[in-house]
This record gives sequence, C-alpha cells and structure tokens, in this order.
Amino acid sequence: MENKIYDVIIIGAGPAGLAAGTYAGRARLDTLIVEQEKDGGQIVITAEIENYPGGVEGETGPSLVKRMSEQAAGFGAQKVKDTIVDVELEGDVKHLIGRSADYYARTVIIATGANPRPIGCPGERELTGKGVSYCATCDAAFFEDFDIYVVGGGDSAVEEALYLAKFGRRVTIIHRRDALRAARSIQEKAFACDKIEFMWNSRVAELSGDGILERMVIENTVTGERTTIEAPEEDGTFGVFVFIGFDPHAQLFEGKLSMENGYILTDEDMRTSIPGVFAAGDVRKKSLRQVVTAAADGAIAASMANKYLEGLDG
Ligand code: NAP
Repeated sequence: MENKIYDVIIIGAGPAGLAAGTYAGRARLDTLIVEQEKDGGQIVITAEIENYPGGVEGETGPSLVKRMSEQAAGFGAQKVKDTIVDVELEGDVKHLIGRSADYYARTVIIATGANPRPIGCPGERELTGKGVSYCATCDAAFFEDFDIYVVGGGDSAVEEALYLAKFGRRVTIIHRRDALRAARSIQEKAFACDKIEFMWNSRVAELSGDGILERMVIENTVTGERTTIEAPEEDGTFGVFVFIGFDPHAQLFEGKLSMENGYILTDEDMRTSIPGVFAAGDVRKKSLRQVVTAAADGAIAASMANKYLEGLDG
C-alpha cells in the first residue's frame, strides 16, 4: 500500500497544535495531529486560567484544552498517539518517523512546546498549582498580599519578581549564588524595589504541606545549613515561583533547523529555515509564552501552511 501523504502534520497537541489543527481542518486540509501524551501540554497543569480572552469563569487548563481538542476534531483534524523520534524535513514530502509508524506530509507544524525547568526537590510536583507556580502572569493574582518567593537569578526570575511585587506582601528572591545573572538594568530595578528581598547562596531543598504549600526547607549552598520557612499563620500558605530556565522540546530538530538556545527560530509568519516547515508556540524563540500567544501562533502557522500548499507563499 502507498503511504498516505497528509497536507499537514502537526507535532504536539497543546494550545498551539490544537489551534493549528482547527485552522488547518477548517481550511479543508488533510490534517493529522501527532501527540505523545495527552492533549494540552503545560496548560493541563494550570489549575485556573483567568487571562485567556473571553474565558469563562472557573476555566481550568483541562476544561479549555478539552474544548480546543473537540473543536479541532470537529473540523476534521485527525489525531494519533505516537512519539516522533526522527524527521526528514527537506524536499516536497516531509517524512516523520514515529515509534509506532512512519508519517508523510507536504507541510509540518512543530508545536512540541517547552517545559519550565523544575527545581527537582521533594514536594515540588505534588504542590504544583497549590502554591508552586512556573508562571507569574498566570498565577500572581492568587497571591495578592501573601508572601512570595521567587527561585532563580536570571532575567526571568528578576523580571517576574518585579511583576510579582505588585501583588505580594513581599517578594524574596532565592538564588543559589551571591550575584544575579540578570541584566544589570533589571537588577537595578529589583535592588531599588523596597518590596523585594534577597536570600543569597540558597536553594530550595524541600517543599511540603497538606494539600497546599505550608513550609519550605532552604539549604545554604556554602555552609549546607538548613532552615525551615513556615507559612504565616494568618495566611496558611505562600507562593513559590520557579524561574530557573526552560527546556524546549526541540532536540529532534538540532542541526536540521535554525535554532537559538534550543528554541526554533521562525519569522513572524512561523516559517522556519526549511520551506513547508513551521513552528508554533513555546518551542519557538519568542518573548511571551502564554496560551493566547500559542493559539495565535498555531492559527498563523496553519494559514501559512495552507498558502504554501496553494503555491502562494513566498
Ligand atoms: P537563565 O538565564 O538560564 O537563568 C536561569 C537562572 O536560574 C540562573 O540564575 C541560574 O543560576 C538559576 N538556576 C538554573 N538552574 C538552577 C537550579 N537547578 N536551581 C537553582 N537555580 C538554578 O534563564 P531565564 O532567566 O529563564 O532566561 C532564559 C533566556 O531568556 C536568557 O537568555 C535570558 O536573557 C532571556 N530573557 C530575557 C529577558 C529580557 O531580556 N527582558 C527576559 C526573560 C528572559 P546561575 O546564575 O547560578 O546559573
């Protein structure tokens, strides 16, 4: 039997991939979405989504993703569960090699996402969304007038600490060294902010609590001394925001596409360095990683894939 050649194959079923699926399906493109786990990507670990435009009250990551998946399927996007392990992207027909099967398409949209790097300490995973967060824009409002701790010393950590200082009673930056990595201009703003304090030479060794974050063990990276921070009695909890870098899911494309720091480079129309190959969402180099920007990327990528197939691109 001849191998089927899809118009477009989308790798990843997070908001970028699902939006691309909706737009591609609606354009009557023969569309396949390949996802290795369940739909949603990072968003499914988000308990509440307040900032998706027009979102309904009480919207959660899983509820939004469920509707996005149904919408893409409603427009005819097919889906398969598989892990892509290798790709041949040059030429008119792209070849994706999965663990279970081989796939062929005239265009490919890479929407494999990125994960915020975790601290990796005990309790972190269990308390994610219950005091531990990786997204200030998403979760700052839940910590209005609470104590907030920010882990990391790079641009993200310090910029997000400045943002969080508008919400929290006070914000303490926990950094493993005694000097920040962040750009000098960003550092200066943090040093000038009277709501921001610093805990130098420190790392989070353990997070714990009964269904909500209640205490944290800090280890001094020089002396090894450990101290425990308890939530103020009147609050019952506090926030820990982790910004120690991201791990984009793009190792597969190293050496094949133009990339920077592990992210795929695209132009504003989501074109990568290979014709017919597009990237959308958190896996590409961009400045704001949110559901709304991922969905927008997916819509653009699918529209441009359609134009490419019609011979109208470039
Ligand atoms: P980053 O620059 O890689 O900084 C990560 C920070 O986390 C560093 O301070 C690092 O400590 C710390 N860290 C790493 N692993 C850790 C661990 N296991 N435990 C504790 N701390 C750990 O990451 P980023 O801040 O997310 O920035 C990523 C890129 O985006 C950078 O190129 C950055 O310049 C850029 N960015 C730019 C802007 C802007 O220009 N406005 C804003 C955000 C991000 P050490 O310092 O000790 O290594």
